[in-house]
Amino acid sequence: MKSNENHELMEKLVSLSKRRGFFFRGSEIYGGLAGFYDYGPLGVSLKKNIEKIWWDMFVDGREDVYGLDAALVMHPQTYQASGHAANFADPMIEDTKTQKRYRADHLLEENGIDVTGLKPEDMNKLIKERGIKSPDGNVLGDVMQFNMMFHTFVGANADSESKTYLRPETAQGIFTNYKNVLDSLHPKLPFGIGQIGKSFRNEIAPRDFLFRVREFSQMEVEYFVAPEDWKKYFEHFQKQVWNFVDAVGIDRSKVTELEIADGDRAHYSERTIDFEFEYPFGKKELYGLAYRTDYDLKNHGEVSKTDLSYFDEEKKERFIPHVIEPSFGVERTLLAVLTSAYSEDEVNGETRVFLKFKPEVAPYQYAVFPLLKNRPELVDKAREVYEQIKKTGARVVFDDNGNIGKRYRRQDEIGTPYCVTIDFESLEDQCVTVRDRDTGEQKRVKIAEL
Ligand code: ATP
Repeated sequence: MKSNENHELMEKLVSLSKRRGFFFRGSEIYGGLAGFYDYGPLGVSLKKNIEKIWWDMFVDGREDVYGLDAALVMHPQTYQASGHAANFADPMIEDTKTQKRYRADHLLEENGIDVTGLKPEDMNKLIKERGIKSPDGNVLGDVMQFNMMFHTFVGANADSESKTYLRPETAQGIFTNYKNVLDSLHPKLPFGIGQIGKSFRNEIAPRDFLFRVREFSQMEVEYFVAPEDWKKYFEHFQKQVWNFVDAVGIDRSKVTELEIADGDRAHYSERTIDFEFEYPFGKKELYGLAYRTDYDLKNHGEVSKTDLSYFDEEKKERFIPHVIEPSFGVERTLLAVLTSAYSEDEVNGETRVFLKFKPEVAPYQYAVFPLLKNRPELVDKAREVYEQIKKTGARVVFDDNGNIGKRYRRQDEIGTPYCVTIDFESLEDQCVTVRDRDTGEQKRVKIAEL
């Protein structure tokens, strides 16, 4: 796709999302708050469906992974031990005239410079040497490191003792509960702990709709293994990431793996693969898979003075487990799913917009229509069918607004795979018309067999 088509696609996704109640700008009535989005009725359904697929695949569907839901606010020492207080920073640069702040690496990339392996001092030098200006054309200051954690104070005293942070990743709640899970459920290595929850990062420049936001959800597993086994489980989760990509309906031809070079990895990682997706604004990180070694457990053990080692009964050996971490962002999944599903075709000379969601992901799996809304016998029968489908646990919506063609268009736009129409014949033969979203094909189906 050409770049103006991509730009158009992005605008279409943003406007469709708002118009049909998927996502709204956070605090919109107050002019919005950059980097925050609210989920509308359809967005929340999409999100829950995706989280359910993940949870079934990575937690409930496995014997070796345990679920967890840890607090968002944790003891400040957590972030001393994890290294986030010292290292969780992005390079920032300020326009000396407007005082607007930017990501130094993003500015360099926009100027065609590859930032792989560059340290903040290298970026500074390059910006000075090349005379790179701010997007407003002004002189830039020096590159500084900006810590992305949101801080807050716990309790009535706002002092250094009570200062802590909103978690920047769900992972730390898992590491600090590793011993609790070990002591209460007694799992043997290898085993994992999985969690879905909110994370917060005070991004310098939130952008690209849901892609880079300041409040988002992560789905993460920390998988604990014997040190010599890390490669095997790294490869196992590499495959699992692809399985998840397929399960939620992300177009796998738009996903690529990127091996992250030494020096570019997060402070805790000895190997990282980023799974990148071709978003309309470029190829960007969708998911990460990292080998975190024993970095986190070792540091939490030292700082908290707690023994976080594991005793292997068979080998009669005590050691600190190593960790493989597949990390999935919910918002980046949603945007990749939306981008993959967005389709247009022509019906009777008019452009039809439809979202090709997988039925497991779609906010509604069925829409039920009485052919006419002013005929009680049709409405009653349609209500009956609606209740029957609802009882099966499927997501179903009732719609009697406007003519059938309009109802189809509305359901197509929100990705409902099946529309079920009750007409006069249905009262006689107990059959309904089921129309397929992607092909437009219509079939008569017995109500009892729906
Ligand atoms: P980036 O380099 O794009 O800032 P990252 O490498 O910092 O991302 P990780 O720390 O690996 O991201 O976070 C794990 C996952 O959490 C990412 O793969 C992504 O899906 C999600 N994620 C991270 N930051 C954000 C954000 N600001 N908005 C939405 N999702 C995010």
